[in-house]
Amino acid sequence: MDFRNKTPKRRSNHKTETDYHKYKDDLREDFYCRCGYCDDHDFFRSTDYQIDHFVPKTQLKTINLTDYSNLVYSCRSCNRHKWNKWPTCVESISNDGQKGFIDPCDSEYDKQFSRNKRGEIVPITPLGVWMWKALNLGNPAHSLVWKLEKIYKKISELRTILATYPENAENYKKLSLLVDSLMFFLEQQRGGKPIF
Ligand SMILES: [Zn+2]
Repeated sequence: MDFRNKTPKRRSNHKTETDYHKYKDDLREDFYCRCGYCDDHDFFRSTDYQIDHFVPKTQLKTINLTDYSNLVYSCRSCNRHKWNKWPTCVESISNDGQKGFIDPCDSEYDKQFSRNKRGEIVPITPLGVWMWKALNLGNPAHSLVWKLEKIYKKISELRTILATYPENAENYKKLSLLVDSLMFFLEQQRGGKPIF
């Protein structure tokens, strides 16, 4: 299975802000509400999502701290594990083919991983293996979020099918309540708001 459906795309010519935290909403939109590194949707813990500097702050020489093109919408787990890792120690070289990182907005990033049936991220290249370890992409929380998203989509499908049934159909009310309560549990993670 593909690692993810869409490669995030940063908007170009973003207005420069003095504080990079101000970019969070725009980054969230450009990354489709997903962590650039693990592709987890932020519905489960949106307040935990952070702004990662792709070239870490400690390696910046010509890139500005507030340069939008160096920022990644990231879950706490990936941001914490990436931290200051930058094995090439050269600002302009993100990897040597074996070690280092690929910008999540580069479609090459998608080619480093796949997904198994359990939604776990599987590295498929040597560089993918290195990033998988560096970012702790084997964290079981990632497959859990992947599964919750699938469950959410299935319940949404069920709700759509149910809407085509006449209200006096057998078990309609029972099924309807069941679907609503399942959806309620998932939407609680977003303060009652729909996930997509
Ligand atoms: Zn992540």
